[in-house]
Amino acid sequence: MTRLGVFICHCGKNIARTVNIEALREKVSTLPDVVLAKDYLYLCSKPGQTMIADDIREHRLDGALVAACSPRLHGKTFAQTAQRAGLNPYLLDMANIREHCSWVHIDGAEGTEKAFSIIKGSLGRLRYAEPLEPFQSPVTKRVLVIGGGVAGIQAALDIANSGHEVYLVEKSPSLGGHMAQLGETFPTLDCSSCILTPRMVEVSQNEYVHLFSYAEATRVEGNIGQFQVTVRLRPRYVDETLCTGCGDCVPTCPVVVPNEFDQGLGARKAVYLPFPQAVPAVYTIDWDACLNTDKLIICENCYKSCEARAINFLMEPREITFEVGAIILSTGYELMPVAHIGEYGGDGYEDVIDGLQFERMLSASGPTGGVVRRPSDGRIPQNVVFVQCAGSRDPEHGVPYCSKVCCMYTAKQALLYKHAVPDGQAYVFYIDIRAAGKGHEEFVQKVMSEERILYLRGKVSKIFKSGDKIVVWGADTLSGRQVEIEADLVVLAMAVIPSSGSQKLARTLHIASDLGGFFSEAHPKLGPLESNTDGIFLAGAAQFAKDITDTVSQATGAAGKALSLLANDFIRLEPTVSGVEEGLCRGCGLCASICPFGAVTMSPSEKTGAMVAGINPVLCKGCGLCAAGCLSGAITLKGSSFRQIFAQLEEMV
Ligand SMILES: Cc1cc2nc3c(=O)[nH]c(=O)nc-3n(C[C@H](O)[C@H](O)[C@H](O)COP(=O)(O)OP(=O)(O)OC[C@H]3O[C@@H](n4cnc5c(N)ncnc54)[C@H](O)[C@@H]3O)c2cc1C
Ligand code: SF4
Repeated sequence: MTRLGVFICHCGKNIARTVNIEALREKVSTLPDVVLAKDYLYLCSKPGQTMIADDIREHRLDGALVAACSPRLHGKTFAQTAQRAGLNPYLLDMANIREHCSWVHIDGAEGTEKAFSIIKGSLGRLRYAEPLEPFQSPVTKRVLVIGGGVAGIQAALDIANSGHEVYLVEKSPSLGGHMAQLGETFPTLDCSSCILTPRMVEVSQNEYVHLFSYAEATRVEGNIGQFQVTVRLRPRYVDETLCTGCGDCVPTCPVVVPNEFDQGLGARKAVYLPFPQAVPAVYTIDWDACLNTDKLIICENCYKSCEARAINFLMEPREITFEVGAIILSTGYELMPVAHIGEYGGDGYEDVIDGLQFERMLSASGPTGGVVRRPSDGRIPQNVVFVQCAGSRDPEHGVPYCSKVCCMYTAKQALLYKHAVPDGQAYVFYIDIRAAGKGHEEFVQKVMSEERILYLRGKVSKIFKSGDKIVVWGADTLSGRQVEIEADLVVLAMAVIPSSGSQKLARTLHIASDLGGFFSEAHPKLGPLESNTDGIFLAGAAQFAKDITDTVSQATGAAGKALSLLANDFIRLEPTVSGVEEGLCRGCGLCASICPFGAVTMSPSEKTGAMVAGINPVLCKGCGLCAAGCLSGAITLKGSSFRQIFAQLEEMV
């Protein structure tokens, strides 16, 4: 390149406050091959971009450098400017003199010197840049939604209602997730089932939705626009097409086990429907509980009582495969087990329960028919202590974050307890109250002021049993006193954690998760709905703890993202990906083991038959790990070749 142009941005005062722009421009204009060096107040503005485009054309520049902010922010903006001016966009580079320079310097002289060094290095790199062309990949116009809680239901409906096919895969026997377990919901106290059940039914009746419950996605290959998915359907031992949902099988089953839908408070049979409004309304035999084994049929009671002949003990797991263009992950959350907190009695006390157990107790369809009772003896508790932040905001128990929903649901539960037991006393231990949503603060204030619920600011240090009471020791930091309460029932607002199996799923999909184990978004501010793998979107509590309102909003957003992808027949992909020079590859496979996106595969060379690395450009994210790791120097990252990187370093040091 012999005709380089450099454009330096003031970014208002963001850069100009620390960097002496005029001195910098003058110095840069003396560098070899620089035929033009200009500065402007805001290069990203329309006049700024027009100036760059005009100069590229007028001065016949064969390379341009914009010294401004991070390319993450405006890389695309200036690439489009270059393209409009007829310059291959990959022959325009950016030098970051804001985040890497002016924002981290106070001294003007030092800042200016560093900005010059960054620009000099970037010009060195630009000199060896090559024109690149984006490539295209076709889009399959179907979507996979994994997880059938309210997030998955909403996303599936939004996609189906726009006329696209959706595969909805739910691992439990029914749709609904945790929302199906709730009684009434904050902050409006509307009945959870009443608002959720119609949507569950709508999903099951929508002709565009293929619903697979009691199923899991076990393999996902391919890339944005074309994911090949394998789903494993667990055997229900009840034929879905024959079961009428009559329930005649249940009374005849001799096996009774704890009901997971009631969080272990109620019981169910080995043949069961998780809850009366389950979708699909089909019974399932819990094979682990059933008296029959793979080899022996010991009991045939349900088989004999089923007039529809739906029971089939010989059912086997099945696998189905299909292709989709986008995936939405909505696998939700779980609560940290009470057993994790030894000082609260571990799992040892029947009358120390978690928030979801209390929800089941409050629910009219729950194990107590909506009556609040002590699990140990069925008595109605007169003193109930609610403990917030049980495990949350507590690095010692591995959860440093706030679980976000428990301040609100604890207020709701305390209120509903008071409605159920007006002469009872409710205490709430809290660190502080986080009620930032619409109508949330007002809800908590109402509970505090009108319902005579005693809010105690402080942490609970110990919970133990004394006779038939549960003793709670805590600190009231407002009065500075230690508090001891003899409770009949304790409800722990346990930390919200990712649902089990999330890590395995993250590995299957090659997506990242954060320190808490929730799926990571591509960017915390600018990409909250995308995962770090293109074409895979996030919805609901799988991304982080959130309430139903935020869950539904995010699910609709994720569906919108997926639909905008499906609106195209082809997607345009960046050419800045790795490439292998076959002649240099020794077939060691190191690159394949390094690549976090599964983009490298080893296969025999068509020319020599020897094993060589091959890169799927659609999966490659251009991170460069394989190029850096290759011991033979066989891999080059286009747009960041070794020649470019070394030239940049040489200019800078
Ligand atoms: C005690 C308590 C009370 C609450 N009360 C309220 C309230 O009053 N108001 C409110 O707004 N919010 C409340 N919430 C929050 C509410 O539960 C969540 O906002 C909501 O359930 C999140 O929905 P989701 O679909 O993201 O996740 P979930 O409800 O957890 O659903 C996830 C679904 O994905 C399935 N799944 C998991 N892994 C896989 C897999 N690998 N493959 C396939 N399927 C999978 C699960 O089986 C489940 O069906 C409360 C939470 C708690 C703990
Ligand atoms: S939402 Fe409230 S109770 Fe839950 S962790 Fe955050 S502060 Fe604690």
